[in-house]
Amino acid sequence: MPEREVFWNISHHWFFYLLAFLSVLVFFGGCYRSLWIWRKGRPLSGNPLFGSILGGILKDILGNAKIFSGDFFGGLMHLFIMWGFLALFLGTVLSAFDEYIFHFLQGGVYLFYSLTLDIFGLLFIVGLIMALIRRYFIKAGKMNNLSEDPLIVFLLLAIGITGFMVEGYRLVAKPEPWTSWEPVGAYLAQFLFGNPFRGHIIVWWIHILLSLIFIAFLPFSKLFHIIAGSLNIILEKFPSEVFTLDEKEKISAEFSFRQLVALDACTRCNRCENKCPSNLSGEALSPRAMNQKIKSYIKSKYSISRLIQELINKPAKEVSRAEVIKGEEAWMCTTCRACVEECPLTINNLDLIREIRTFKVEEGTEVPALVGETLEVIFKYGNPYQGAKAKRGEWAKELGVKDLSLGGEAELVYFVGCGPAYDSRLQRIAQSVVKIFKKAELNFSILGNKENCCGDMAKRVGEEGLLEELIAKNYETFGGYGVKGIVTTCPHGLKMLRDEYPLYRKKLGIELREEIKVEHYTEVIAWLLQEKRLNFVKGLRKRVTYHDPCYLGRHCGIYDPPREIIRKIPEVEFVEMVRNRRNSFCCGGGGGRIWMEEFPAREKISEIRVRDAAEVGAEVLITACPFCLSMLEDAVKTAGYEGKIEVKDLGEILEELTGDLIF
Ligand code: SF4
Ligand code: SF4
Repeated sequence: MPEREVFWNISHHWFFYLLAFLSVLVFFGGCYRSLWIWRKGRPLSGNPLFGSILGGILKDILGNAKIFSGDFFGGLMHLFIMWGFLALFLGTVLSAFDEYIFHFLQGGVYLFYSLTLDIFGLLFIVGLIMALIRRYFIKAGKMNNLSEDPLIVFLLLAIGITGFMVEGYRLVAKPEPWTSWEPVGAYLAQFLFGNPFRGHIIVWWIHILLSLIFIAFLPFSKLFHIIAGSLNIILEKFPSEVFTLDEKEKISAEFSFRQLVALDACTRCNRCENKCPSNLSGEALSPRAMNQKIKSYIKSKYSISRLIQELINKPAKEVSRAEVIKGEEAWMCTTCRACVEECPLTINNLDLIREIRTFKVEEGTEVPALVGETLEVIFKYGNPYQGAKAKRGEWAKELGVKDLSLGGEAELVYFVGCGPAYDSRLQRIAQSVVKIFKKAELNFSILGNKENCCGDMAKRVGEEGLLEELIAKNYETFGGYGVKGIVTTCPHGLKMLRDEYPLYRKKLGIELREEIKVEHYTEVIAWLLQEKRLNFVKGLRKRVTYHDPCYLGRHCGIYDPPREIIRKIPEVEFVEMVRNRRNSFCCGGGGGRIWMEEFPAREKISEIRVRDAAEVGAEVLITACPFCLSMLEDAVKTAGYEGKIEVKDLGEILEELTGDLIF
């Protein structure tokens, strides 16, 4: 009957068990070390979303979906290696179960088992050869090569090949009638030479030694992403985490559990850097390098020698965090989220970079002068424009819109935002949105001089104290007027009010009668058009394209409503830029950068984006964010497209083309 003896032709089993024990001991020691470090972080909070965790496991862990996106060769390579490895690992576990617990690998089951392992073993080797071709011949994506990288690939390749050689020598030494169920080993057997019994013993021990080295080495190399990366994908399905100043003071940890796992998950694949607008414009920021810099700091802070000192209660020398917060890179991040979207393991580099900004702000180290000044202005005026509080509602004075600061209550509030309230160019967006809402007879109010900065700047640059103050003030205003719904002009305001405020509200103990529904104005207009409460009275005979603001698209997931609206405009010719939706390219103004000086670069991020629009022959570049409008309008001038491309907010365009509600 078809079956196989695990230790056929092998003696000195005790030596195998000793080596296996040592290897597993080192493996668990390494895993414990990482777990110990992770647990030094701020604890995990929030309830897991089980549906999305399952989705993440199936799609991103088992299906490698994000690796395939934009890199089919890389995706296939990783899928072959991963599934080959998993099948061989499972095969070894089943073989041990069969040997020590219950003998079931016999007859047809054994033949199926053998064939399956041969197929997956072959895929494993093909995947590893593809990895070598990709890394050293195709040289895809400016990969970050360290000496351990080829070592890992050759180690795995040697394990795979020696595995088949063991099978081949066994088939030569002990021919079996079911050879066709072990096709790779049988094929290889033709090329093996020497005494098959001796050959089998030698290759068996080499195979075992390499496999045990691999197991021991795993937690100390980038192979650890098998564990940390999978865990990171699951953790990213937990709700976003926020820690108030009070909590941070009590916990006194520099990073959170999630952030520390993310550092260990990184494989240095460099996909984040290849999509980072700051890096692509020639600035010095690399999210991958930032990640590695923080990881080195953490590893030295919690090194094995320090761990031993801690275990024997001996105080260890403090590791300075100067290296990790040194330099301007952290300020170059536009918080566009392209790196998170691109990372196969969903590592939130942007969150780590923000943590570094928080350190800098706390210590007052290398904070750009303009950032410091802007934060002070927000603290003093409630907006970054130095606009007088009493004048916050002036932009609307001719529009006949209900202003709550003059009295009354309202369920639906139009939250204008600082730019559209004070900047004369951006005021035109808010005025257009109000006129459209009025045409559709929407019942809404504005907060006038009771509106405050939403806190986006404070959040992105890590000024936690100011942020909490603004959140508390705004909630007090919303509660006082009985607000149940908010519409924002700005995607940054949307992200703050819709996603970040509720997280802080619970932590800060702010009471609210009921949850406030927050939407972007494009969502509301798309709905008004659908309900036929708005109609077009004119067409736009122009070739237009749409720039996805990072905070509307990647941060808030709103890609379709603006496109639905544009497609409804009569006579318009709508064309997508090559980089669109989740692959959109930043305007360069997010993350507080609109308030910073330019960093040394080959070209401006915003100019690259305007060129994207020029390449598809757009006459109008439409956006739906005041920051994007400012950045792109400037870039049209500096990049030499004045008179060729016009930058407009979607609200402005619709105001010109729509008419009053007709019953
Ligand atoms: S953060 Fe993600 S995308 Fe960037 S190098 Fe690490 S694994 Fe790759
Ligand atoms: S968020 Fe955007 S700018 Fe910041 S590191 Fe990631 S890709 Fe680069």
